[in-house]
Amino acid sequence: MPSPVLVVGGGPSGLTAALSLAQHGVPVRIIDKADAFNVESRAHALQPRTLEVFIFLGVHRDVLNLSRTVPPMREYKLPGGTEVARTWKILEKLEPSPGRPLREALSLGQCFTESILRDHLGRYGVQVELGTELVDIQQGTETVTATVKRHRQGGSEEIEDIQAAYIIGGDGGKGRTRKLIGATFEGQTKDSDGQVFTDVKIEGLSIHYWHIWSGPGKFTILARPVSDAGSTFNVSVIGQNFDPVDLLDRQKFKEFFHKKSGRLDLVFKDMKSLSYWKPNMRVVNKLSEGRVFLVGDAAHIHSNAGGQGMNASIQDSFNLAWKVALAYKGQAAEDLLSTYHIERLPVVAQILAANSHLYTHLVQKKSSDVEIEATPRANKDGFLRWRNDALFQLDVNYRWSPIVMDEPARDKKDEDDLKARAYQGYPGEGVRAGDRAPDAPALLRTDGTETSLFSIFKPYIHTALAFSPCGVDTAAALGLTETYSADILQVVRLKRHGVVGPVEAGNDTSTCYDPNGTALVASSQTGSTTSEVQEVTAYGVASVFTPSRNRKKGYARHMMRLLHWVLARRSALPPTFPKEWGTPPDQKMLQSAGVANAQFSVLYSDIGSEFYRSSGLDALSHNGWCVAGSTETSWTFDTEASPSSPPQSSDATTPSHNVKHLTQDEVTALYDYDADWIRDDLSRPSATGSDASQALRATRFTFLPHKGVGGFNISRTVQFAPDLQPLMPLSRWGVVVLPQSVSTLPDALASYGPDFEAKAAKALSFVSWTFDTGRKQKTLVVTRLRADEDTFPLLLEEMKAVAREEKVRKIGFWYLHPQLRSIAEAKGWKTAEREDHLSAVKWYGDEREEELEWVYNEKFCWC
Ligand SMILES: Cc1cc2nc3c(=O)[nH]c(=O)nc-3n(C[C@H](O)[C@H](O)[C@H](O)COP(=O)(O)OP(=O)(O)OC[C@H]3O[C@@H](n4cnc5c(N)ncnc54)[C@H](O)[C@@H]3O)c2cc1C
Repeated sequence: MPSPVLVVGGGPSGLTAALSLAQHGVPVRIIDKADAFNVESRAHALQPRTLEVFIFLGVHRDVLNLSRTVPPMREYKLPGGTEVARTWKILEKLEPSPGRPLREALSLGQCFTESILRDHLGRYGVQVELGTELVDIQQGTETVTATVKRHRQGGSEEIEDIQAAYIIGGDGGKGRTRKLIGATFEGQTKDSDGQVFTDVKIEGLSIHYWHIWSGPGKFTILARPVSDAGSTFNVSVIGQNFDPVDLLDRQKFKEFFHKKSGRLDLVFKDMKSLSYWKPNMRVVNKLSEGRVFLVGDAAHIHSNAGGQGMNASIQDSFNLAWKVALAYKGQAAEDLLSTYHIERLPVVAQILAANSHLYTHLVQKKSSDVEIEATPRANKDGFLRWRNDALFQLDVNYRWSPIVMDEPARDKKDEDDLKARAYQGYPGEGVRAGDRAPDAPALLRTDGTETSLFSIFKPYIHTALAFSPCGVDTAAALGLTETYSADILQVVRLKRHGVVGPVEAGNDTSTCYDPNGTALVASSQTGSTTSEVQEVTAYGVASVFTPSRNRKKGYARHMMRLLHWVLARRSALPPTFPKEWGTPPDQKMLQSAGVANAQFSVLYSDIGSEFYRSSGLDALSHNGWCVAGSTETSWTFDTEASPSSPPQSSDATTPSHNVKHLTQDEVTALYDYDADWIRDDLSRPSATGSDASQALRATRFTFLPHKGVGGFNISRTVQFAPDLQPLMPLSRWGVVVLPQSVSTLPDALASYGPDFEAKAAKALSFVSWTFDTGRKQKTLVVTRLRADEDTFPLLLEEMKAVAREEKVRKIGFWYLHPQLRSIAEAKGWKTAEREDHLSAVKWYGDEREEELEWVYNEKFCWC
């Protein structure tokens, strides 16, 4: 049997470590010297960061069921004890945000938190072995031996040597593990501030407040409701300038409470055992030695001000457990384990320092502290009032850790500077490597169901978030799935495209969409039967925005001119940057970032052609983007053939044709094949033949629809209407004509195999579309068409049928190949120059405008 990991201590830190390891599938034993489980409330505040950890561990729901929000504090005037002096929140709730959904601490007695963790641990077959005390440790090279003493009924003892792969010492402030590894525990004990507490039912006291009776410089009595039902309170007496240890006697405790609070009317029932506690503020010099690690109070012990200790303890274990698990399974080098000390020690040391400061607000030292304020001053710490957002522990970070890698271009900070912000973090700044990963709600899985990053993150598997704004499979590009097995790494491909909403930024903005490597240029020599096809970089300008206060000042035009200097190949630009424009863009930087090498760029204009044509390479030239191919061939349903009317005739119903509707995924899959078919088309000289003007156009160019370029149009329609409201996903995004021999698109595509020639020879006819919902009349706009004279009429009829069902009034092709256009026109479709959405191109090569043909100038490549 393999050596287990031995966890010493069944408190919150030990249980968290054991649960996390069990979820990793690592054999684990957990021992506790106590003969029975803790039944005391002790630490009760669960900070947002801990609640997030509980989500990942799967215990959050149970915690929510039992916990309550931290009630407001209510202080009473003395003598008397009934007149309210003031009411306030000990810790303000902060506004939640998508990245930080949990912004309020919850309150749950420690014994309940432990019981939930134990329950979940039990589901992995692991029970806390009570009455089992660690007494010694012998470190070995491959394992470590723990000597434990088991208490038997009748007072006998039994010694067992447990050979463990690692030991995690979560045995609390008085634990033995720390001593056995020779760690120091520097700090202070507040001998003058002993506390006695118990859980007791009190009749006649509201459970909606955390009640306080305070004699400044003498005592503080607190009664905190433990849940939002029943009448049990955690009552504590904090002694000032006297040691309350005598109050461990129940009768004396009750008498003290009644006398000092003046609340003789409050009746105590079912008082639990009393505990005595002195605040300690101490931290170790090391968190590990060999195969032994310290977590929780065993390593750092805090006062109860600000509710930090137990939270820091749980997070120690969460940080350590996955590292131990990977090392245990041989999936990571042992070196990884050293990062536990490197990462956590600065954090806990700083929590302790902050906590020591907060401690001064735990007791009222003098009566001036209690000057009764009807409205406590906002943003001000004070007696039992914490105004430090760091207490939520959401800003705890590990930016200096050796296993954290950020972009090299990020400004490098000194390691000590980074460590100094381990606890306070960088509130308000963006997320960087080493920070807590934020949540992202409302993500859609491919099956359309909703999820969030927090539902995806798990403690037993790494999650790589591969952002693929243009549909490029970054995870595959980085080799993530090849390098790491699925039990170590889950890859989440975030495919949402960068839809640009209303831009609020103060600066003029243009957004470029970079379908890098997804454009082709084909050049042919006169008389040749083949064309040379090259893959090139090209850009589509997705949006151009100028805040209203900056309009009509020439900024936008200047910005668009500068854009050429960012996108174009260097050889397409004048030798010198216009002097009056100031400093030129840094070409080296742009090239290293993979831009500054485009063969062409395109944009789609609703503001006419002149503005973009005049946005040239310098202030005088009119050699900017030129409108090309902005036609539309459309069908508009008239009143007789209203959208609700049934189709009058449909060639698609002819049984000899195998026409299938396409889902979003099927369209995307088809685009991959279509890219090859387009490449094949371009390898032959222009197929337009009949159009004499094409003879001149020896250079053809196009974007390709795969790698997310075409899919973007569907995603955008699914996700946002023009007012950025999400639309219900539709199920039909196109139609394909399949061979009679197959019944589904996947079958048809599977029959191709890897052979390009075979694929090209069997190109499928299909049409895909999106919906323009921003128009007066809902319009079905074709994004991509591949058809011949036989299949095109079928597709036209099928589109009409879909349009009727979707209550669409118009169908439009933004570009139609001349041969197909004549077929459509013969059936009553109308062709006209478009008045908006004008397609414009800026060519960064030597060819003249009239030598160029923008083929497949359809909606698919429109951003
Ligand atoms: C009486 C008391 C009152 C507290 N009140 C508050 C409070 O009001 N607010 C607050 O924030 N924090 C409070 N704390 C601190 C808080 O409880 C701790 O921060 C938290 O419990 C730390 O969890 P842990 O798992 O690291 O250690 P612990 O909860 O202390 O658990 C350690 C466990 O290890 C076991 N153990 C010890 N030695 C051995 C051994 N040699 N072999 C096997 N098992 C061993 C113990 O029996 C215990 O179950 C209090 C602590 C105590 C003890």
